[in-house]
Amino acid sequence: MFHRDTWAEVDLDAIFHNVASLRSFLPKETAIMAVVKANAYGHGDAQVAKTALEAGASHLAVAFLDEALALRQKGMHAPILVLGATRPEDVDLAAEKRIALTVFQQEWLEEAKQHHQSGLPVLFHLKMDTGMGRLGVKEEEETKRIVAMIDAYPHFLLEGVYTHFATADEINTDYFSFQYETFLRMLEWLPYRPKWVHCGNSATSLRFPTKVFNIVRFGIAMYGLSPSLAIKPYLPFTLKEAFSLHSRVVHVKRLLPGEKVSYGATYTAEQEEWVGTVPIGYADGWIRKLQNFHVLVNGEKVPIIGRICMDQLMIRLPSYVPIGTKVTLIGQQADEKITMDEVAQYLDTINYEIPCTISYRVPRIFL
Ligand code: PLP
Repeated sequence: MFHRDTWAEVDLDAIFHNVASLRSFLPKETAIMAVVKANAYGHGDAQVAKTALEAGASHLAVAFLDEALALRQKGMHAPILVLGATRPEDVDLAAEKRIALTVFQQEWLEEAKQHHQSGLPVLFHLKMDTGMGRLGVKEEEETKRIVAMIDAYPHFLLEGVYTHFATADEINTDYFSFQYETFLRMLEWLPYRPKWVHCGNSATSLRFPTKVFNIVRFGIAMYGLSPSLAIKPYLPFTLKEAFSLHSRVVHVKRLLPGEKVSYGATYTAEQEEWVGTVPIGYADGWIRKLQNFHVLVNGEKVPIIGRICMDQLMIRLPSYVPIGTKVTLIGQQADEKITMDEVAQYLDTINYEIPCTISYRVPRIFL
């Protein structure tokens, strides 16, 4: 239940389509882990997780333990992997909820062992740093010590080993190949192959399906967004964008030539102009840099004029429209469309950042 005229629509059929298409595209022995961190990239964690699992994913991945606990609380029973660092003192909580943790450092493992009191099994995926320079073990000796420690402790189980690519979404594949080869070499350090071996984000899964071992971590493309503009023309199947953003005109007025709009009075009407006020602003994630970008009204692009406020913005209308007229900020109206990529390009950023930035104030409606 909400009481405002601004909302996001999340098309779960689009999510289903994207995951089911990947399912048909990948060899059938390759499993799919749906990456639903950050509230499913701003789309709604449990709803996306449920849809992805119905469409052929078997696992879920999140960034930190609280995100995994939230999914358990919302009734998700599928295996979940925490990709980021977990506090060693929370190891029992993870065990209790059957949440797999990423291990990437010997000292951390020693601490986790000290905190483990429940007697419940703890599942680990070992993260290798093959060139991302973020989380991950780099040294052979440390890798061997970590595996030996896990194997020596009856309640710890090494369930997986993985790495993450820094440039899988770039046309030039030199660095990707370097990381892949490094991962192959690192796998040789292990005394055995754990159940799950993984390296594939969306870009890798879509471009190099034979180089992903036996499970992929599918994020951005599940939401219908290309991992980069560079590889967008070469995707193996059509992605359907799931997220759209809408509001309604709540005030319409006629400005006379010379009259101003919004903070700083940066916009001046040049002639008689119709101006609409729309109840979305930077506290909703529609940030001030979007000034002069456009929205859709009655299937037409109209400009955002003046500074964007915390909760409202103004648009210049070609003519009078009634109060309540729908405004689309991301998505389609008639033949016109504003894509996530267009918004990202205007802001000089990547599409990932846009739905993540649309704040908790904007209710998500699931179609
Ligand atoms: N794996 C890891 C470790 C990640 O950090 C991410 C996302 O940032 C993903 C997989 C999913 O990547 P993508 O959204 O590009 O598919």
